[in-house]
Amino acid sequence: MTYELQNRTAVITGAASGIGAATAELLAAAGARVALLSRRRDRLDDVAAKIEAAGGVALAVPVDITDPASVRSAADRVTAAFGPADLVVNAAGVMLPNPIGDGREDEWTRMIDTNLTGTLRIIREFLPGLRAAAAEGRPADLVNVSSIAAHVPFPAFAVYAATKAGVTQLSTALRPELGAEMVRVTNIEPGLTDTELSGHIDNPDIHGRVGEMYQALPALSARDVADLVAYTVSRPRHVNLRQLIVLPTPQA
Ligand code: NDP
Repeated sequence: MTYELQNRTAVITGAASGIGAATAELLAAAGARVALLSRRRDRLDDVAAKIEAAGGVALAVPVDITDPASVRSAADRVTAAFGPADLVVNAAGVMLPNPIGDGREDEWTRMIDTNLTGTLRIIREFLPGLRAAAAEGRPADLVNVSSIAAHVPFPAFAVYAATKAGVTQLSTALRPELGAEMVRVTNIEPGLTDTELSGHIDNPDIHGRVGEMYQALPALSARDVADLVAYTVSRPRHVNLRQLIVLPTPQA
């Protein structure tokens, strides 16, 4: 499927890899200028080079979304280079499962600060641009990548699930505020997707169980999820796909 996103300016977090990188590539191929936000500069440069080699326009902006000052200066860089963004995709996230009894406050803090508060920091900095686009009658999109884990419990994933339930509820709760101004809010809940996300799990048993899931199921590709992002943001501006759940067909 092809999408028309000429004259759109997009900011994608988590753009160094996985769903964020695939989304950036697809939005750029559809004509959007894309700002790529993540911590790893080398990986952002790789994604930007790939987009530019395909004829797109990309800007790599290293940022740590757990740091408010870093997010603010990233937003300044994007605005200086591209002007205000009218399309924001929050795909940055970490998944650090461990049994709740292990009391891993380091992981809890990192997941909450990245998945939930980091998403809020991005929204705070880029909301004025979304509002301005909507006020001028142009499309304006906020897309949050949550997870099926917001609804479906997995052992040892309680805190990750809580952050993703928070993202889903945040998306729902923002709609009355932003929808009234014609800023679309879309929440996407993917199931098992083939990315680097499980690479940070430090518990060998849980890492093994997640690996078995990837062997048992044909995981979605990052591109499958990116395709939904591109689809939803290219609808007419009065059409808001509020909630998208996408699973590999055999995933219960
Ligand atoms: P990846 O690990 O490939 O992507 C996560 C991205 O987040 C990385 O590019 C990483 O880049 C970035 N990131 C992490 N921490 C920070 C930070 N502090 N500041 C800025 N960027 C950060 O995995 P996915 O593509 O799978 O993950 C994308 C989203 O999809 C996540 O929110 C995840 O929870 C969600 N999801 C994934 C599923 C799956 O099965 N893979 C299923 C359901 C939802 P860097 O390290 O350079 O900062």
